Amino acid sequence: MLSEFELIKHYFDSRRTEGDQITLGIGDDCAILQPHPNKQLAISSDMLVSGRHFFPDADPVGLGHKCLAVNLSDLAAMGAKPVAFTLALALPEANPTWLEGFAQGMFALADEHDCKLIGGDTTKGPLTICITIFGELPHGQALRRDAAQVGDDIWISGTLGDARLALAGYWKEHTLSAELHQQAATRMHRPTPRIALGQSLLGVANAALDISDGLIGDLGHILDRSRVGACLNVDLLPAGPVLAQQTVDLRRTFTLAGGDDYELCFTAPVHQRVAVLAAGQSSGTAVTRVGSIEAEPGLRLLDAHGQVYQHQLKGFDHFTSD
Ligand code: ADP
Ligand code: MG
Repeated sequence: MLSEFELIKHYFDSRRTEGDQITLGIGDDCAILQPHPNKQLAISSDMLVSGRHFFPDADPVGLGHKCLAVNLSDLAAMGAKPVAFTLALALPEANPTWLEGFAQGMFALADEHDCKLIGGDTTKGPLTICITIFGELPHGQALRRDAAQVGDDIWISGTLGDARLALAGYWKEHTLSAELHQQAATRMHRPTPRIALGQSLLGVANAALDISDGLIGDLGHILDRSRVGACLNVDLLPAGPVLAQQTVDLRRTFTLAGGDDYELCFTAPVHQRVAVLAAGQSSGTAVTRVGSIEAEPGLRLLDAHGQVYQHQLKGFDHFTSD
């Protein structure tokens, strides 16, 4: 049986992390970060709890990827460049097979974004994974939720809804062929944080966030914080490739109020349209214009025919949604 310290050393402390910006990594009471001059640190935490955010028997490699991906997605939403992260883990047991897979999934994504593990905490308990991530931003240039301006276009990166469609498959709400379910499930288990796009939008977009609890609820946060309203065309929302093959009703429902999308929703002035498309191109990420910011508070939804889209959808909330 591995001890706590053997476990940390073997799975999480086998790499040298000191270097540019990381004065001290794992092993002391604190890690030490040295931001570059004229840069600010962007900091975010996300916790994933077994049975709530993932199935208790979830594949550990996918879980390692996802728990870091959701944190990287928060950095992407601010336009920040990843630097480092800490990992707080509660584990029911020190299972080497699980730990090996988890570390593999997590470090593969960390290496892709040159984001270093610099510390954490390890304890016995119900499986819970909490990552705090640190990113770097040019001073004063963060893409904040409170910066949308009346007249801005509203844009969405990538596609929405396939993760929610996969969940509908697991819950037997909706039937898909094994192949299509697998394709949708990949979106649910292996989200792609839009790191390159976020950074390309600095100086181009006004406000941004990442969509984790469904577009309707998350866009609502931008509207609240910026004290504006918006109009969206529901039939312009980019559906995931599997969802795009389903009924119009399901497509509208899951693009508007899916969850686990980890795409960016951002607003940008009309005169930046060419620059937004160029940011999408340079980062290899599709960007779709879906509506605009208006002075009148509230969110108005229209269909392709200009008719009001009636619905009772809302964003996910851990305390009121179940
Ligand atoms: P302390 O008791 O002083 O808080 P710990 O004994 O918990 O420190 O941890 C020893 C070192 O190992 C610290 O540098 C800590 O950041 C690091 N560490 C603990 N758990 C993890 C983990 N899951 N991943 C990475 N580093 C970890
Ligand atoms: Mg200590």
